[in-house]
Amino acid sequence: METRIIDGAALAKAQRAQLAEKVRALAGRVQPGLAVVLVGQDPASQVYVRNKTRACEEAGIASFEHRPPENIAQQELLELIGSLNRDPKVHGILVQLPLPRHISSEAILHAIAPHKDVDGFHPENLGLLTSGHPRFVPCTPAGIMRLLDHAGVPLEGKHAVVVGRSNIVGKPAALLLLERHATVSICHSRTPDLGAITRQADILVAAVGRARMITGAMVKPGAAVIDVGINRVPSGPDAGKLCGDVDFKDVLGKAGCMTPVPGGVGPMTIAMLLENTVRAAESSAPA
Ligand code: NAP
Repeated sequence: METRIIDGAALAKAQRAQLAEKVRALAGRVQPGLAVVLVGQDPASQVYVRNKTRACEEAGIASFEHRPPENIAQQELLELIGSLNRDPKVHGILVQLPLPRHISSEAILHAIAPHKDVDGFHPENLGLLTSGHPRFVPCTPAGIMRLLDHAGVPLEGKHAVVVGRSNIVGKPAALLLLERHATVSICHSRTPDLGAITRQADILVAAVGRARMITGAMVKPGAAVIDVGINRVPSGPDAGKLCGDVDFKDVLGKAGCMTPVPGGVGPMTIAMLLENTVRAAESSAPA
């Protein structure tokens, strides 16, 4: 079977261009602004933040970077969030995770004003999503849905299997698939015989964080496979290169369609962040 590769980079580029157009149309009414808070010097986080701020600039969204030191006190970080909540130029606030161990991520994420929570991690936004009235949907799961729709994958009545149950990817992705009338199974580290479940999947979403753990033998022929993982190849000729949770070469020829890593879910996550920020700005602007 020929596997169609879902080009997330191209889709994200098209969406960013559409957003740039929208931002231009908003000129004079509101300029969308995103505040990005990066605590410490984590190299991977620095790359993510750089990519996000660059994408903002290209779309005409103002970006405000805050880079407090690793040893910032939780109270001080809460005060920074408070000042961003009050700043009318800031429509979206993103706190790059993970935070240093001495800071409670929960306390920080809960402090973000829900109407500026463009990452969709505040309990109010997660509650709205759970009750079927989403406001800001977490960006990676929103990107997954956009990729599936773009690829024309039918969801209603299909069996979707999500591997991973994190609050930022697995759980919201499962809720969104459920909302679209898929029958959803969620797997995690205590799931025995993972392959027996993944092989039933018409739609398989891998959000685990384990390099190439989903092999061809775990995939139903013709399935749509969405690879969320961002890992480094641990050994062998590709050691150190980026790879997903799916063994791409092994699944090629078995899946009906699948996303690559890089160039799949990652760029869509950023596009959805920009979209949420523009929406936040629009809803703050006078009519
Ligand atoms: P996470 O919080 O570490 O969650 C990983 C999930 O995988 C957990 O639910 C865990 O189960 C489950 N798991 C671990 N080992 C497993 C196994 N052997 N079999 C079945 N399930 C297993 O990770 P995350 O934040 O959701 O991220 C997942 C991956 O996506 C990472 O590689 C991350 O870098 C990537 N990611 C990419 C983007 C993007 O934009 N492309 C965005 C976010 C994350 P338990 O709950 O039982 O521990």
